[in-house]
Amino acid sequence: MEPELLQPGDSASKPHRYDLIIIGGGPAGLTAAVYASLLRMRAFLITTNIGGQTVEGAKIENYMGYEFISGEALIASFQDQLLQHHYLDHRIAEVTTVRPLEDHFLVADKEGGQYEASALIIATGMRRRFLEVPGEERLQRRGVFYQHLEEGALVTGLQVAVVGGGNSALQGAIELSVLCPRVYVVSLEEWTADAAMQEEVKARGNIVALKGHAVTEICGEKRVARVKVKCLETGNERHLSVKGVFIEIGWRPFADVVSSLVDLNGQGEIQIRPDCSTSCPGIFAAGDVTNAFGKRVIIATGEGAKSALSAHEYLIKIGPRKVKI
Ligand SMILES: Cc1cc2nc3c(=O)[nH]c(=O)nc-3n(C[C@H](O)[C@H](O)[C@H](O)COP(=O)(O)OP(=O)(O)OC[C@H]3O[C@@H](n4cnc5c(N)ncnc54)[C@H](O)[C@@H]3O)c2cc1C
Repeated sequence: MEPELLQPGDSASKPHRYDLIIIGGGPAGLTAAVYASLLRMRAFLITTNIGGQTVEGAKIENYMGYEFISGEALIASFQDQLLQHHYLDHRIAEVTTVRPLEDHFLVADKEGGQYEASALIIATGMRRRFLEVPGEERLQRRGVFYQHLEEGALVTGLQVAVVGGGNSALQGAIELSVLCPRVYVVSLEEWTADAAMQEEVKARGNIVALKGHAVTEICGEKRVARVKVKCLETGNERHLSVKGVFIEIGWRPFADVVSSLVDLNGQGEIQIRPDCSTSCPGIFAAGDVTNAFGKRVIIATGEGAKSALSAHEYLIKIGPRKVKI
């Protein structure tokens, strides 16, 4: 999605000082930004894109106030609310480091920009998991896909493989089985998808399950021609002749920029208290990157609002001069 109003800014040569820096412009970060603006905080939003996962082509059917709405339309309305009514400083850039200094944090981005703030909200969400096998990157969009709905039409009449065993993978296999003569479903372990979906897959005569198998290579010169799979029990490898590989192996919380500063749980999520504070004073976190239950837009927005309210209270507590009221 091309943001209409948020655009890359000039690199800053010396650090800019704020009360609050919000890292991440998905539903959690954008909501935190609106709240920070309403609370008249000197806040700064820095993000690699606007919308995060919601612009992955999703149709959202469970956000209050809408029967359904596309992710893009919902984010456009969030962005409009932020920019038209509650403007705050922003930058489209990737944060690479967060460093604690004596009484504040130094945030640096990939293009050399540096920013300082007394408090941070980490709303960096989740990133797609990749197979990380030879051929995957080279053949992206030339037979290697991450979204079955949009790309399915490109493989009509051809054999394909779906990688993964969760709901998204099996849903993809069901949809592709209508278009393709044979669909292999390759998974490392037993499927974790809902029982009803597993039943539906089993009922389709043209879906072949390869459980306990790993994809080790995606082959083809200009386009995908086959994939190499390995049986984990026997170690035997073989090629599947397919023209499309749909990778649905999930998402991982993206807490990398603060992973050495705050406590994470076993899944790599930032552990937060009910007020969105973390184990590091001054760092708050919201949305899918945290251990808050439920990865949903409505939950991320609620958590984003909560994190801004908490950061505001924190800033008042540590010193009124740091908060512009
Ligand atoms: C295909 C799909 C369909 C979905 N369907 C639904 C649905 O129907 N209903 C529903 O409620 N939820 C749905 N979800 C889940 C929903 O999109 C997420 O729960 C929600 O987007 C989480 O918001 P977030 O702000 O926490 O994180 P994200 O949306 O992941 O946003 C994170 C933001 O942080 C930015 N960022 C990350 N790292 C950095 C960095 N180092 N520097 C700067 N910026 C950074 C990213 O660019 C992004 O803007 C779906 C998700 C997917 C993938």
